Amino acid sequence: LTTKVLLGMALGIILGLIFNLSGMMEVPEGAKAGFVNQFVVNGAFHIVGKMFVNMLKMLVVPLVFFSLICGVTGIGDIRMLGRVGTKSFALYMLTTAIAIATAILIAASLGIGDGLNLESAANFTGKDAPPLSQVLIDIIPKNPVAAMANGDMLPIIFFSIMVGVSMLMVGHKAKPFIEGAEVANEIMMKMVNIIMALAPYAVFALIAKAVANLGLDLLASLAGYVLVLVGALMFHLFVTLMITLKVFSGLSPIMFLKKIRNVQVFAFSTASSNATIPVTMRTVTQRFGVNNSVASFTVPFGATINMDGTAIMQGVATVFIANVYGVDLGMGGYLTVILMSVLASIGTAGVPGVGLIMLSMVFTQVGLPVEGIGLVLGVDRLMDMIRTAVNVSGDAAVSSIVAKSEGKLDVSVFNDPDAGMLDT
Ligand code: ASP
Repeated sequence: LTTKVLLGMALGIILGLIFNLSGMMEVPEGAKAGFVNQFVVNGAFHIVGKMFVNMLKMLVVPLVFFSLICGVTGIGDIRMLGRVGTKSFALYMLTTAIAIATAILIAASLGIGDGLNLESAANFTGKDAPPLSQVLIDIIPKNPVAAMANGDMLPIIFFSIMVGVSMLMVGHKAKPFIEGAEVANEIMMKMVNIIMALAPYAVFALIAKAVANLGLDLLASLAGYVLVLVGALMFHLFVTLMITLKVFSGLSPIMFLKKIRNVQVFAFSTASSNATIPVTMRTVTQRFGVNNSVASFTVPFGATINMDGTAIMQGVATVFIANVYGVDLGMGGYLTVILMSVLASIGTAGVPGVGLIMLSMVFTQVGLPVEGIGLVLGVDRLMDMIRTAVNVSGDAAVSSIVAKSEGKLDVSVFNDPDAGMLDT
């Protein structure tokens, strides 16, 4: 399946490029979009892609709910839950902080954006950061059904854990419910498999559409920004995260990188860590050997609060735009940027484009012009796809580290190249 998915991705890129470069996507002034643009790319491909993303999203809430209940009742030890929570939170924050710090260092030492004087490409109006107190208050849902309906991950996690803990406290009378949750979890996992079998076609459609709609000329004019950003993202994925994995868990980075590819392709084509949760969950439990008691918590938690790739984009964009506008942020300014990005990542969900909203919060805080974000808007869709792949890799790495430290990772599964492969 991985080969098929990668093939879908490659074909999508090729076809997208053909459509884009041949001018078939262009809409002459006053005229209607052509056949390919209107009916193929933004018609058929759009529909297939959106249907697939919806299918993934459809699974997220029930999957997280049931697997967390099973996770909690399966551990049966509330102290371990506390430890898993603390460790994963610390590692998520640490990796995000390192990510943005390296991004700022790389971008600043290369002096990107210096001397560039671009006209603002598009208008961008920002958003203020929600106060930390509100982020904390919102972890607890007033109405769990509303939280589920809106897909608000932190309150869903909170409620599911409470249900699991209460089931444990009720004890033997709750057994039918516990068993029911286990069956429900298995059913949801089956559904993940069904959906994954459709992935090669959906990935093809999603990527062909994204590439066909790319502003390639914009990409060229922002080449400096794009290259530094992609370089910093790759550095984080292949160096920082892999060293962290090796040092904290002793697990093989090569095996990790091999098996995480599928998850990265899903994240890349959907640009959403949240929509990728079912795939991340399946991969870490069945291919990495992480016990559900850890994964059921760390994966949705990570999709929400851990955004290494997004933080890197913020670091690079801050330096870039500060240089374009000739603003000197200074050490204090950059420290504020690091702190703000880490905090902003806690309160924002892993959905497409949210990185720009976080960036506007950071800019308001350090006094950079928010409309400067308009400069990088045109290339952000592609950057979003790449950084989301880095985000989910971080989620999976931390899940593996935490599971290993708790004795909840089956190393023989992790080291078996064929473990949990999907046969279609
Ligand atoms: N799309 C990213 C994610 O889902 C967030 C972002 O950087 O916009 O993780």
